[in-house]
Amino acid sequence: MDFEMTNRQKQIRLAAREFAEGELAGIGQECEIKEDFPRDLIRKAAQLGFIGVFIKKENGGLGLGFLEHATILEEFWRVDPGLGQVFSSLTFGAEELQFFGSEEQKKKYLPPLVKGDSIMGFSITEPEAGSDTASATTRAEKVGEEYVINGNKVMITNGTVANFVLVYCLTHPEETSRSKRHSILLVETDQPGYKADRIHRKMGIRASDTANLYFNNVRVPKENLIGVEGNGFPQLMKFFDHSRSYVAAHGVGLAQGAMEQAINYVKKRKQFGKAIASFQVTQFKIAEMATLIETARSLVHKTCWNLDRGNVDSQLSAMAKWWACNVAVRVVDEALQLHGGYGYLDDYPIERFYRAAKILEIYEGTKEIDKMMIGRRILGVT
Ligand SMILES: Cc1cc2nc3c(=O)[nH]c(=O)nc-3n(C[C@H](O)[C@H](O)[C@H](O)COP(=O)(O)OP(=O)(O)OC[C@H]3O[C@@H](n4cnc5c(N)ncnc54)[C@H](O)[C@@H]3O)c2cc1C
Repeated sequence: MDFEMTNRQKQIRLAAREFAEGELAGIGQECEIKEDFPRDLIRKAAQLGFIGVFIKKENGGLGLGFLEHATILEEFWRVDPGLGQVFSSLTFGAEELQFFGSEEQKKKYLPPLVKGDSIMGFSITEPEAGSDTASATTRAEKVGEEYVINGNKVMITNGTVANFVLVYCLTHPEETSRSKRHSILLVETDQPGYKADRIHRKMGIRASDTANLYFNNVRVPKENLIGVEGNGFPQLMKFFDHSRSYVAAHGVGLAQGAMEQAINYVKKRKQFGKAIASFQVTQFKIAEMATLIETARSLVHKTCWNLDRGNVDSQLSAMAKWWACNVAVRVVDEALQLHGGYGYLDDYPIERFYRAAKILEIYEGTKEIDKMMIGRRILGVT
């Protein structure tokens, strides 16, 4: 199965599995209902080295790769998607800082993330700019030595709990090229003018914070620019090429967890005098799930393996994200089906997994955007 993984990577998988089964399995439903998660778990996960493993050693991380990061997230999502999302998003955007941040920014902001002392977010989406990120209008104007930010972001993970957020801002509205108009700024969330309103009763992954953000004359020093002014769009695309690979890993984890629940259930549940596992149709369903998961995991591994060698391939990342997330939605649907009516009740975790799965086809590029990228690349059209 894990033919391309080193022994160390396999050990990381086992350690992440042990942590997830020991710490997350029992509290997933409660966290979903309370729309919250225990903060001490973050510190615990950090002490065990599960947070931001891809962050370089000089910035407080373990200096491992995206494959290790994706594997840890897969194991967390296998056990609980809501808490998986909490842990996945603690460092959401740290890649951007690692690739494009100044040495001062990396030294200041990355080590506390790895220690579990800080949480970040990355705010791109706006009411009128979703898939079309290049149409974002949140304005950052340079005034002397500062940028002054005004605008509104929506559906931002960690908006009310983050210590700082990266903000995708319009800095060059006069530019004719849409890919040269934006810049990425870092905003500490205790700045005057920053406001976050939590969104409640999402369809799923409710333990994870999602918020609408308002920037009202938020002032940040010019040193908070990430990378190059006007280069926000290509910087963002490079970030997505990485983040899509581990959203794909979320899909693999969720699908794996759903299939295991179905396997347990069909071995116990009896109808017509037999375990429903003995019906050939059930065996076919499990066979299809296992095969789909295997293909998705292989694609995630290939994508991460390449990213870890500096081979950034937008098409491959989009393929991994689309396919693995599609696999998650298909597998969880059949897994719930095998639970019959009981799957529709919240007595079993499968119902929570089912609700969680859909987000995977929406954020980090909808499935349509993923397929558009793949198709355009293959056909050589823009
Ligand atoms: C729980 C949650 C967490 C989130 N976290 C974050 C976050 O941390 N940071 C952040 O910035 N955003 C976040 N988002 C927002 C998310 O990234 C967007 O919802 C997503 O990018 C889609 O944008 P939209 O909702 O505006 O949909 P739209 O872009 O309006 O799309 C609507 C539909 O039209 C389709 N469509 C759009 N354009 C095309 C096209 N050219 N061709 C074909 N079909 C098209 C889409 O595929 C989709 O089916 C989050 C959302 C949720 C629900």
